Amino acid sequence: MIQPASRAQISIGATTVTYLPDGHGWINPAVFFPASVPDGWARHAEYLDERGWFPVSVGAFLIRTAGRSLLVDLGLGEVDYVLEGAAEFRGGALPASLAVEGLSSADVDTVVFTHLHHDHVGWTSDVAPAPAFPDGRRVSGLTFGSARHLVSEPEWRYWTGEPGFPGPDPVAVLEPLAGRVEFAEDRQEIAPGVRVLATSGHTPGHLSLLVTDPEDDRRLIILGDVMHSQVQVAESHWTCRFDVDPDHGLATRERLLKELETPGTILAGGHFAGQVFGEVRQRAWKARDRG
Ligand SMILES: [Zn+2]
Repeated sequence: MIQPASRAQISIGATTVTYLPDGHGWINPAVFFPASVPDGWARHAEYLDERGWFPVSVGAFLIRTAGRSLLVDLGLGEVDYVLEGAAEFRGGALPASLAVEGLSSADVDTVVFTHLHHDHVGWTSDVAPAPAFPDGRRVSGLTFGSARHLVSEPEWRYWTGEPGFPGPDPVAVLEPLAGRVEFAEDRQEIAPGVRVLATSGHTPGHLSLLVTDPEDDRRLIILGDVMHSQVQVAESHWTCRFDVDPDHGLATRERLLKELETPGTILAGGHFAGQVFGEVRQRAWKARDRG
């Protein structure tokens, strides 16, 4: 059975992109991908455990280019909890994963959030987001205090307004980011060869990232949550129950899948199990060999 992914790295020219594990989740597909049950997983049984739940990796991508160190998303934080009948999540490894790369939090110059769901913002501050938000917690600062923090404006406006879905922890995430957050726009270059791509649907201001390097004719797209599982390469109609706009999310996924079918395009799926880097070939998933 396929397990959550471990560290992996890819080079695009002189740029490296490294998957840094923070933790993992196990999810009940009946809750998460309603269209996938009861029969959809028969073709993908290697992804399910004995309960019929599927694993997701949860972590961050470290992009190092031209003396810059960027983190894409901030994992779950130091949490370990069960949502009865729906999912279980455990995080906490991101600082150790960063240390393996020889970096501390002070070395990160940019944090960019694909979106603000709980499993992407966990290390925003020194308080871990909780599934229920207890009173009385105090944040003393941002984990990556010397970094710029980038998010799209529609994403920030949605979650700081009156969202119709469970959103980021106000104490651990929104308050410490307020006044610090900067807005990134579609196609904006946030570091040499690193651009954000507007890929809304899962959330109103969802971003993906495009990584290129003049020394390489390949390109890498960090998906964010346009897909949660490589099974969606073949089953693109499996819409996530937590998509704020499922129809738009599906259209975005189809649009991105066409991009991903372009030869020389490598995909990074932060929630993919087994291996987060791979390629799409004729709507089938081809994991990149390790190493
Ligand atoms: Zn996610």
